[in-house]
Amino acid sequence: MTDTLAVTDGRVLTPEFDVVRADVLIDADAGEIIEVGPDLAGDAEETIDATDSLVMPGLVNAHGHATMTLLRGYADDKTLEDWLQEDIWPAEAELTAEDVAVGTRLAAVELIRSGTTAFADMYFHVGEVVDAVREAGLRARVGHGVVTVGKDEEAARDDFAESVAVAEEYDGAADGRVRTAVMPHAPHTVGTEYFEEFVPRAREAGVPLHFHLNETETYIDEIDAEAGVRPTEYADDLGLLAEDTWVAHGVHVDASEIETLAERGTAVAHCPASNMKLASGMAPVQELLDAGATVALGTDGAASNNDLDLFDEIRDAAMLGKLAADDAAAVDAETAVRMATEGGADALGFDSGRIEAGANADLAVVDLDAVHLTPEHDPVSHLAYAARGSDVRHTVCDGKVLMRDRDVLVFDEDDVRERAQEHAEALAARAEE
Ligand SMILES: [Zn+2]
Repeated sequence: MTDTLAVTDGRVLTPEFDVVRADVLIDADAGEIIEVGPDLAGDAEETIDATDSLVMPGLVNAHGHATMTLLRGYADDKTLEDWLQEDIWPAEAELTAEDVAVGTRLAAVELIRSGTTAFADMYFHVGEVVDAVREAGLRARVGHGVVTVGKDEEAARDDFAESVAVAEEYDGAADGRVRTAVMPHAPHTVGTEYFEEFVPRAREAGVPLHFHLNETETYIDEIDAEAGVRPTEYADDLGLLAEDTWVAHGVHVDASEIETLAERGTAVAHCPASNMKLASGMAPVQELLDAGATVALGTDGAASNNDLDLFDEIRDAAMLGKLAADDAAAVDAETAVRMATEGGADALGFDSGRIEAGANADLAVVDLDAVHLTPEHDPVSHLAYAARGSDVRHTVCDGKVLMRDRDVLVFDEDDVRERAQEHAEALAARAEE
């Protein structure tokens, strides 16, 4: 007899985006949904109550840097280039493995509290990230970020080699909840010769790639000056684009780049809040969708957002998508919620993002019994435009309850916060020395 968990007495957002009264029966050992239907609570070992609530797929944060929670509010109101060079890179140069352990746990608590069950992480000290994910009970696609500009040849090669080695080492960790990718930072921050050497190695290892694409005009100008082509074409020539690859941002992509991304099946993790805050620009999300590209949502690091509540990204994506398209019908509510759920799961290669038999049991139970969600004409509209991460009552990942009635079960939240405050203060002091 397997351990079972039932989510009872709620309404369920189906893959067709209907909202139906149903229970969800979960195989807690396998981490899979067994059945969605009426009256399934019967023999379940454990139940969670979803009265007056909506059971939706757990949100998927498809691009970020979890440890950057330690730099939340550290430097704001600058362009991407100034912000990176003047504030973020000097601070990151002082980061220790323990900072990553502490920062990733802080991020994990925030993700769980806002209904996110899977996330992507591009950072350093990946072993610490993996330990935090294991403890959190979340699902993640993690990797070591590679930058070769400003490094000598040996250091540059070591950095890329480490990204491949780390991806091979940790793939399948935490009972399969951790998957990996090789993560070169961006086409213009990694030398061509290193892509030529290591991209085939990543492909041989069977791990996906993830990188920042066309976040600002600078990304494009540098590749244009060096190679005389747009970055998407450059990346394609180097074998960087594939179905298991996903890119972050894609803000400044022209029509031919949109077509290439769609043709290669390379998903785009759209990060609307980060793009607005750094004034990077407006990604042509509706055009990407119309071309058949998979679009997911990401918060990016908490230093450019400044939180990890993906409900903000859903609303921002819908609103910014309309502005970018100059069309109020663009990126409608359902589309925005799909990007944060099945779009993210597709981008990261997880069988999540849908509440149906056989899928991963990754879900969020959203309390609809709130002033700002009254009255209710259309719950999908509320998810896109009115709900917040703090409306999430329960979070379940891989069939395990990570938060029950707003109580995070996997961490001592006060301890995580206290340690984060200490480490953030010490980090800032080192960076400013
Ligand atoms: Zn990023």
